[in-house]
Amino acid sequence: MVLKEISPIENKPLTMEELPDPVPGPKQILIRVSACGICHTELDEIEGRLPPKLPIVLGHQIVGRVERSGPGATRFASGDRVGIAWIHSACGKCHFCNEGRENLCSEFRGTGCHAQGGYAQYTVVSEDFAYLIPQRFSDAEATPLLCAGAIGYRDLILSGMRKGQTLGLFGFGASAHIVVQIAKYWGCEVFVFTRGEEHRILAKKLGASWTGRPEDEPPRKLHCAIDFTPVGETVPQALRVLEKGGRLVLAVIRKRNPIPPLDYANLLWDEKEIKSVANITRKDALEFLHLAAEIPIISEVQEFKLEEANRALLLLKQGRIQGAGMLRMQEELKNM
Ligand SMILES: [Zn+2]
Ligand SMILES: [Zn+2]
Repeated sequence: MVLKEISPIENKPLTMEELPDPVPGPKQILIRVSACGICHTELDEIEGRLPPKLPIVLGHQIVGRVERSGPGATRFASGDRVGIAWIHSACGKCHFCNEGRENLCSEFRGTGCHAQGGYAQYTVVSEDFAYLIPQRFSDAEATPLLCAGAIGYRDLILSGMRKGQTLGLFGFGASAHIVVQIAKYWGCEVFVFTRGEEHRILAKKLGASWTGRPEDEPPRKLHCAIDFTPVGETVPQALRVLEKGGRLVLAVIRKRNPIPPLDYANLLWDEKEIKSVANITRKDALEFLHLAAEIPIISEVQEFKLEEANRALLLLKQGRIQGAGMLRMQEELKNM
């Protein structure tokens, strides 16, 4: 499914195309994709808030099997089940890369944004940017671990949350439904703020001790909060219920509408902090995949066929996906 031009998702801009099979270059592996998750970042790409390099095959939560290795690639055997996340490559030489902050590298390339992604039967990646998938997860269950989960894990680390503290989650989609499980596992109390009644039910099921709407008053103030929503209004709403000295983490790459003016005295004073999150590192993905198998994370996945990508992304935009959305590659397409 190829994106050729920027357009609202309502116009169904992804089209089914026949492309030549990619060839793995030096140190790269060719992967036969079995499933690929969908993500809000893809809506940002499609609608131009985060313009990709066109034409592009989107998708950065890829699970598949190694078909063959390019020259000099030795890490994986053919048939190994691997995943690819948002980080497709970084320069490996700059001070960010040397400090383990490759997510901030100025040559950071995103999968399905600056390099071809996983809304396809085949894709290639450097073997250094692929991860073995823990056995306990099916292909479908593993897809949201690679972005929603790995980025959610990074959000949680950056929130500075400590055992016994209270965490607020604003929005309850693919990432939050995994983060609530990690936070519970780490002994924290989780409050979930979301408009959707169905999302509140799922949040309770996965361990939230209180749920409400973003404008509601939680039973206690939040030591930290993560805002997963694509709208600006949740920023003052989260700051309003944040404890003194608390930190609010903004998880999305782009907000769809502006953050309203913030009343300094009421919302920001008392040493409150706001921190954004940019991309992920390989370490985030590796650590999180290990943790996910240990907990183990239950991923709630709604499946679509590859050719239904436009519809799946429209449902995501409308907040109508429960848990995480995922595209399944069709068996019969494999030999087309
Ligand atoms: Zn993503
Ligand atoms: Zn770098």
